[in-house]
Amino acid sequence: MNKRSVRDLDVSGKRVLVRVDFNVPVKNGEVTDDTRIRRALPTIRYLLEKGARPILISHLGRPKGEPDPRYTMGPVAKRLEELLGAPVLKLDAAVGPEVEKALKNPGEGVALLENSRFYPGETKNDPAFAEQFATLADLYVDDAFGAAHRAHATTVGVAERLPAAAGLLVEDEIDYLDKVLSEPERPFVAILGGAKVSDKVGVIESLLRVADTLLIGGAMCFTFFMAQGFEVGKSLVEDEYTEEAGRLMNEAGERLVLPVDIVVAERMEEDATSQIVRVDEIPEGTMGLDVGPETVERFGEHIAGAKTVFWNGPMGVFEMDAFAKGTEGVARAVAESGATSIVGGGDSVAAVTKLGLEDEMSHISTGGGASLEYIEGKELPGIAVLPNKEDA
Ligand code: ADP
Ligand code: MG
Repeated sequence: MNKRSVRDLDVSGKRVLVRVDFNVPVKNGEVTDDTRIRRALPTIRYLLEKGARPILISHLGRPKGEPDPRYTMGPVAKRLEELLGAPVLKLDAAVGPEVEKALKNPGEGVALLENSRFYPGETKNDPAFAEQFATLADLYVDDAFGAAHRAHATTVGVAERLPAAAGLLVEDEIDYLDKVLSEPERPFVAILGGAKVSDKVGVIESLLRVADTLLIGGAMCFTFFMAQGFEVGKSLVEDEYTEEAGRLMNEAGERLVLPVDIVVAERMEEDATSQIVRVDEIPEGTMGLDVGPETVERFGEHIAGAKTVFWNGPMGVFEMDAFAKGTEGVARAVAESGATSIVGGGDSVAAVTKLGLEDEMSHISTGGGASLEYIEGKELPGIAVLPNKEDA
């Protein structure tokens, strides 16, 4: 990427405020999935090796702009200590005199500030709040790709007030997505699924500009079937997008590939009786909950021939074993393809992780919303605010 990197900064002996994405699931005081913490380790370790003091800031959950013990960073600090094998100084606030005092001397090791969303100024990108962060450090590094699409005090405000750069994770994320968007090795097969077409119209359009083939599964395929005049029963559809779906199909021609068979059931329940039907024969009173085996096979053929794969959105209701086969089949095909594979999206990543296939993918994006907005061609405020390399 052409943004200034943490590697371009002279960090030795400096206090470096690092915006990380430690928005992890916590249950009974324990972090239940530490993926995001682990993904921040390279930048943290780099800073420690260079003799800098990393001061970490993140949001966690959705507290309402005030302290809420349910969303404390305590469990994160504990997990981070285990992963780093070194003590972490966990502070009880994110800003203020106590924090300033504790961080005044350069000190050693990692410090972790309390949840940035314990303050109303975070999501408002309040200048005075951002200024308080700027007084804590000499430099700012953004390593929170998952928060880059938000213009908040800890992603944008403070970046405007300190010499700023991208962290190693953000660099990695942007480099992979740029490669997909501008110079994918071909054939480039994009796979889209998930719940809603409306969420992803922009992503479909953007991918159709660069991909050789776009495979569409998940609930969004039913809006496309409606556009073709098929009955879709009780399947999840968005009537107001059928015209749009028809237009996209016309534009894309053979490059847009839809399922040929569907797993349907009367109810979205694990034990509901299901059957496999052709897409133009969905029985009244049933809903499509997964793509069928023939679809998995056809999608698999496209994927096997690909050199680059971008995947967002499960092929069905993968949370229930009865409707997880489509997603599993596609995940295995991607894993076996040998293609450069990029998986983005919270649920898609959860599906890949559940199958234990995360190590088989070239890149798993930590930014669900952020990666989709980037693919759509939207500017991410947290990235845009960082200086370009040539300005450095
Ligand atoms: P991601 O988080 O990877 O971007 P989405 O949030 O767009 O993915 O979609 C994931 C959700 O889509 C899952 O909860 C899954 O159950 C749901 N889904 C997929 N296929 C269907 C379907 N046929 N009917 C209803 N829901 C579906
Ligand atoms: Mg999701």
